[in-house]
Amino acid sequence: MPVYKAPVEDVMFLLNDVFPIERYNNLPGFADATPDTVEAILGEGAKLCEEAFAPLNRVGDEEGCTRHPDGSVTTPKGFKDAYEAFTAGGWMGLSAPEEYGGQGLPTTLNSVMQEFMSAANLALGMYPGLTQGAIAALLVHGSDTIKKTYLPKMIEGAWTGTMNLTEPHCGTDLGLLKTKAVPNGDGSYAITGTKIFISAGEHDMADNIVHLVLARIEGAPAGTKGISLFVVPKILVKEDGSLAERNGVSCGSLEHKMGIHGNATCVMNYDGAKGWLIGQENRGLNAMFVMMNEARLAVGVQGLAQSEVAYQNAVAYAKDRLQGRSLTGPKFPDKPADPIIVHPDVRRTLLSIKAFNEAARALVLWTALKSDVAHRSSDEAERQSADDHMGLLTPVVKGVLTDVGFDNAVKAQQMFGGHGYIEEWGMSQFVRDARITMIYEGANGIQAMDLVGRKLGKDGGRAVMAFFNEVGAFCQENAGDENLKAFIAPLQQGLGHLQQATMWFMQNAVAKPDNAGAGATDYMHLFGIVALGYMWAKMAKAANAKKAQGNGVAARMDAKLLTGRFFMERMMPETASRLAAISSGADITMAMPVEMF
Ligand SMILES: Cc1cc2nc3c(=O)[nH]c(=O)nc-3n(C[C@H](O)[C@H](O)[C@H](O)COP(=O)(O)OP(=O)(O)OC[C@H]3O[C@@H](n4cnc5c(N)ncnc54)[C@H](O)[C@@H]3O)c2cc1C
Repeated sequence: MPVYKAPVEDVMFLLNDVFPIERYNNLPGFADATPDTVEAILGEGAKLCEEAFAPLNRVGDEEGCTRHPDGSVTTPKGFKDAYEAFTAGGWMGLSAPEEYGGQGLPTTLNSVMQEFMSAANLALGMYPGLTQGAIAALLVHGSDTIKKTYLPKMIEGAWTGTMNLTEPHCGTDLGLLKTKAVPNGDGSYAITGTKIFISAGEHDMADNIVHLVLARIEGAPAGTKGISLFVVPKILVKEDGSLAERNGVSCGSLEHKMGIHGNATCVMNYDGAKGWLIGQENRGLNAMFVMMNEARLAVGVQGLAQSEVAYQNAVAYAKDRLQGRSLTGPKFPDKPADPIIVHPDVRRTLLSIKAFNEAARALVLWTALKSDVAHRSSDEAERQSADDHMGLLTPVVKGVLTDVGFDNAVKAQQMFGGHGYIEEWGMSQFVRDARITMIYEGANGIQAMDLVGRKLGKDGGRAVMAFFNEVGAFCQENAGDENLKAFIAPLQQGLGHLQQATMWFMQNAVAKPDNAGAGATDYMHLFGIVALGYMWAKMAKAANAKKAQGNGVAARMDAKLLTGRFFMERMMPETASRLAAISSGADITMAMPVEMF
């Protein structure tokens, strides 16, 4: 059976030494998050994921969800109990406001839990993940009545949440959306239409399901300007908060899919279901963006999580599997062959995954801390700068962590040779599960376009300039540090490539937008490599300092530094090829006549 050990120690290095969480203790909720408390909380979270979630991953894959003739859906054996253990531990409300029953702790801790859960059992982790996204949207855009009606139960975990955007003819282009909303005259609306691919749309783990649904109010303008957001409960809620009769929403069928079998992906039929407006009429996309942005970051974390669990299993296998001898002579002469971890190509593969995972985890935590600042700081300038960071980095975290996360799951599978292709080792499931992360929450090509087309130029390029300035200043400040030499020069070079690519777009994409479209994915990855390189430089600085303090951490910090050097020497140079691809422009891409494809 596949193994999983939540990387608590690595997270604590990030939260104690790289981005010290104590520095944020002026923010609400952080005073309680002392390093000891954080370690204790994450230790408990790790236990839940390792002992309750991970053992069900295979079961979920093999058994999948079952829809019954009455439209109800049963989740795989054990999922309900594991979800109950999750809610009983108060994990759903870990960082939700205390006013509605949450614990008010930093969102950053929730991001860590998202990684642990998604690594242990991606399909199961999606049920609470979507609920937390729905909670975030209701908190920002729900009326007081709606908040009081839904939030306490959702934060308790008694009710779960979903997001309903996609329709058969309308995925990326939400302007095509047809689901309609007709006023009932009592403040509610009758919602009618079909939504497809709705994750956790129906299941047996909660008493009620709170659907957030995009629909067009009768007479609203066409396109994205006529879309509104509604809350549509599966079971209507009485004024006293108790459950009333079934609403007109049901699961028509379950999708048969490549992975995440334990998550119910539903066709949802809305037949005049009662719904209530969230936010303003025709501003539904704006309201839904709160949930989408949360979900995009969470999906990026899912990419990292699949990469991490696949890596852990590949390392265990590579230490155990005996094949061939080391190129420099037998390393284990008493055995019939050496373990495959002695082979340079195996080590290269494993190190490239490890170097990505550790930096990606840092990038996630850096961004999660910015999210806490953006939502909790009393200083407007600080909030704005954190918000800029989130806007800029969200498509990078989503797109890069899932593209590379999937690649890494394949690389880890490769370490098993033919055994990786056989279901019993579990590697095939990691590959199949990781694949969806590149597609949902906005396919990665769309993330790249969001970065290049919207985020770069927003507010006169304020966010991207702040990023360049921060990385540039770090390089300058540390240029004289001999111990960081292996990190600063490659980072500086990568940053230069990113700046050149940005300039190239400014000069060549405004008059010719195809240049932006053709180079967007390369740019997103170039950005990702530089951001991860920056994380490595910061981690190397922290590792040097920690090593100097002694405390028996030298071996661990040396391993950290070696991994970082691998990133700088073997992975950072990709910035040059990405820049070359971007600045070749769109001509060759667009030259082929459609009929010749
Ligand atoms: C398992 C699963 C779970 C899901 N869960 C949910 C959920 O809970 N809620 C929900 O609402 N939806 C959900 N989805 C839907 C998912 O978000 C969409 O599938 C996704 O957004 C893409 O839409 P589409 O499938 O219609 O593809 P399309 O929009 O048809 O896109 C097809 C391809 O064309 C590309 N493309 C499209 N337009 C452009 C453009 N302008 N420029 C460049 N490239 C473009 C896309 O990148 C993509 O590669 C889920 C899907 C799956 C498979």
